[in-house]
Formats: sequence, C-alpha cells, structure tokens
Amino acid sequence: MKNKPFDPVRAPIIKKLFEMYSTGDWSLNDLAHYANNQGLTTVPMRRRRTEEEMLAEEDEDVKIEKVERPMNNNLIHKIFTNRFYTGRIINSEGTYIRSASHKPLISDELFEKVRQELKKKKVSTRYTDKIELPFRALIRCDHCGRVYTPYIKKGIQYFGARCFRDCENTKRSFNLDFIEDKIGQLIQNLYFTKDELIEIDARCNTDISLLEEKRHNEFEKNDRQKRKLREELKYLRTNKLVLIKSGVYTPECYVEEENKLSSQILSLQTEEQISDQSMHEMVLEIVKLSELLENVYLYYQNANSEEKEKIIKIIFSELTLSGNILKYQCRNGFKPFQSRFLVVCEPTTWLSELLEYREEVVLVIKDLDLS
Ligand SMILES: [Zn+2]
Repeated sequence: MKNKPFDPVRAPIIKKLFEMYSTGDWSLNDLAHYANNQGLTTVPMRRRRTEEEMLAEEDEDVKIEKVERPMNNNLIHKIFTNRFYTGRIINSEGTYIRSASHKPLISDELFEKVRQELKKKKVSTRYTDKIELPFRALIRCDHCGRVYTPYIKKGIQYFGARCFRDCENTKRSFNLDFIEDKIGQLIQNLYFTKDELIEIDARCNTDISLLEEKRHNEFEKNDRQKRKLREELKYLRTNKLVLIKSGVYTPECYVEEENKLSSQILSLQTEEQISDQSMHEMVLEIVKLSELLENVYLYYQNANSEEKEKIIKIIFSELTLSGNILKYQCRNGFKPFQSRFLVVCEPTTWLSELLEYREEVVLVIKDLDLS
C-alpha cells in the first residue's frame, strides 16, 4: 500500500465499516451492501496494458482509463485485516511499523475488536432466526442496506430491520400483509394498459425502420469494440499464471474478468444478428410478456405466501423500503416495463433497450409460463 494521506471521501466510510463490524450485528455481506450504497468503491486502478499498448507506449498517447470496482465480501475483509488503517506501514523487512507520515484512521483497540469478530464464524448466533419463513432476505432497508428479517409474534409474521443507529429510515418493521400488498401494486403497475398497447402497436412500426438505419451505422463501431475486447481476452489468457501469481487478480477475479469479456463479445455478436424481422417479433414478445404479467397479477392476488415469493423472485432482483415507499429493480427480462415511459416519449430508445434484454425476455416468458 502506498504511503499517502487518507482520501477524505473514502476514509469516513471505511472508519464507519470498522465501527459497524465491531458491534457484531453485521455480516461482511451486509457491509459490502452498505459500502456500495455509500458509494465506496475500490481505489481506481488501471488494468494491465495489452502487448500492443505496451509497444505503443513511446507515443504516450495510449492512456488506459482507471476503473473503480464495487465492494464485495473479500474486499471488505481485506480492509479489515489491513493494519495500514491503524497508522502503520510495512518496512523493508516486511513487518508493520508505525508510520511517521500518516495518522491512524482507527485505533488499535477497534482494529483488534474487528479482528476478533472476524474470527467468530457468524453461523451459529443468528441461525435460529433464519427458519424458513417466506420473504426471508427479500427486502432491505433502502438507506443502510440491512435486510428485514422475518419473525413471528402472536401468530403474525412481521419483519424487522436492525438498522444502523444513524439510519434515517423510519420504517423499522412491518407485517406480511403490508409487504404483500405493496408488491402486488408494483406488479399491477408493471404490465401495459390497453391504451399503452395500442400506442405501442401504432408507434413501433414506423420507428422500427428508423432504428434499423441507425443500427447499421453502429455496426462499424461494434466491430472495433469487438476487436479490442478480443485482444484483451487474449492478453488475459496468455498471461493467466503471471497475473494470478503477481496478485493482479485473485483466481476468482480472474474468472470473473474472463467471463465478463467473453459475454461482452457475445452480446455484441447477438446484437448484430438481430434483423428487422426479429425486431417485430421482439415487440410481440414484450406484448405477450405484458399479458402474462397481467395473468400473474391475478394469480398473485389469490396465491399463498410461498407462491407469492416464487413470483416475486421471478420478477424482481431488488426490493428496498424507505418509510412506506417500496423501491424496486426488475430482473433484466422485465426491464422494458420499468422504462415504459419511453414507449410514448421516445419509442426508438425504448426499442433499442428491448434489444439489450431480448434473451432475458425470452427466458422470463418461460419462467412465468411455468408458474
Ligand atoms: Zn436502515
């Protein structure tokens, strides 16, 4: 770690992470969520240069953008075991010594407390609460990211969040009916109304041809992008061992990076394969999905909680509560409904977005058809 003062934006968040973890109420997972909510990312890092870029280095024109990465359990764990935050640096013999130039961000006591917490495996303590109640681990606090945990009181299922002390969220608990209703409303607002369906039919036909023209121009750009991605992938594969040995990537990160590049290439390829004809099919699929959603909503109203949970997990990827407001993210296949206002204002943009989610739309149609 380089010897420089703490970043004024990152430092308070990191300090808070230490404090939160030392209470024993939070898991690494919770804190990764919290950190991401607070906008904490890794320090921007440049990826390795490709061979070509190295050769071209003399030109000094080749600048690789620095990339920040979101937090995960491993990264949080790394922070918690780094004595740098207690004002120490590693000397030439590889042992930690007090740094003359940077003040500690956290005390030795706090660091030690966190270390003790890390040692405890957090399986036993709260495992008993985690009995199989419906909607477990489904809803989080929108502000601090803590999960609402289900519990039973006098035969009624409630949910409670152990929010952080400073959390602004006033909604600390609610019952099962409350959340089932809220989510029902979300589903109801998701599918298209009759008016919207008429609008889609009318507007999309003309806009599809306009869009096709635009897309042709983008193909060239795609080609360049694909070439670049392939080079990066080649570099990664040729230097796999060196990259992992030197610690640039952990084996997991390496696999993640490799998958990311491959799937980016793949999505560029599929994008090109979509023809005029399939754009029409695409719109028909969305309309079909909308009808399915409407049926699912009717089914949801009479379903039991386990069935409701199944439906929710098919449609939503994220549900967070702030006061009485339930916020949501749809799984990718349903994203076209989330951006539905575009249908009327900017059908071309909406159609382009549809293309992005095409495969997922087909998948979720299958998922919904089964339930
Ligand atoms: Zn909270």
